[in-house]
Amino acid sequence: MFKVYSQFISQIFTNFTLKVIRQFISSFMKTIKIRNSTEEISIGKIVCVGRNYAEHAKELGNEVPEKPVVFLKPTSAIIFSGDEIKYPSFSEEMHHEVELVLLIGNKIKDASLIEAENAIAGYGVGLDMTLRDVQTNLKSKGHPWTIAKCFDTSAVLSEFVLKDDHNLTLDEEIFLTVNDEERQRDKLNKMIFKPGDLVQYLSSLMTLEKGDLIFTGTPKGVGKVNKGDVIKAGIVGIAELTAKVC
Ligand code: MG
Repeated sequence: MFKVYSQFISQIFTNFTLKVIRQFISSFMKTIKIRNSTEEISIGKIVCVGRNYAEHAKELGNEVPEKPVVFLKPTSAIIFSGDEIKYPSFSEEMHHEVELVLLIGNKIKDASLIEAENAIAGYGVGLDMTLRDVQTNLKSKGHPWTIAKCFDTSAVLSEFVLKDDHNLTLDEEIFLTVNDEERQRDKLNKMIFKPGDLVQYLSSLMTLEKGDLIFTGTPKGVGKVNKGDVIKAGIVGIAELTAKVC
């Protein structure tokens, strides 16, 4: 009887300790929320792909690339649906870019296409908020885009759906509205480099790890947002998000 009682107390203590440890970790680490799951995955690096829809590349006067255009965002840029996007003082032209975001589920390097596809654990929708005036200036000087892409609140995330719960066909529509007016809508199959190809290519450049996020590029229709605007975005059947610009 005493043994059962002591095991019971021990189990409660273990569960309590684990809960406190999880709360402590999540207080300073940003985590992905997974639909239909209690698991919270700590976010690693954010790798972004530019010019992955031909019509978007053209609308900004860029060539359609032969290889994916790659840049990074810091985790300090992340906010979640319902949070506010803050206009930085050093820009007057912030643009919305809605994107399919891939969640990496295991560590890979120099992956085969099959290994790359298997490493994708789930999908979400994200906003790659971009300071177009700053980016245009940087591009004209041949400088990296970092300052235009890394500011606080520049990466907005929805909750994620696991691959087991959604079979991505690329026939899904991705969309974005500003104050309920539609600005972007396209099929994911317009992506030049598809999710498996992107992950395989990126794994040839750097190790990808569990919790890393891949922003896969935006379709045509990017445009300026102003303070007070409300952005709603989503991918039909996957996830939606909303964020107000302040
Ligand atoms: Mg983008």
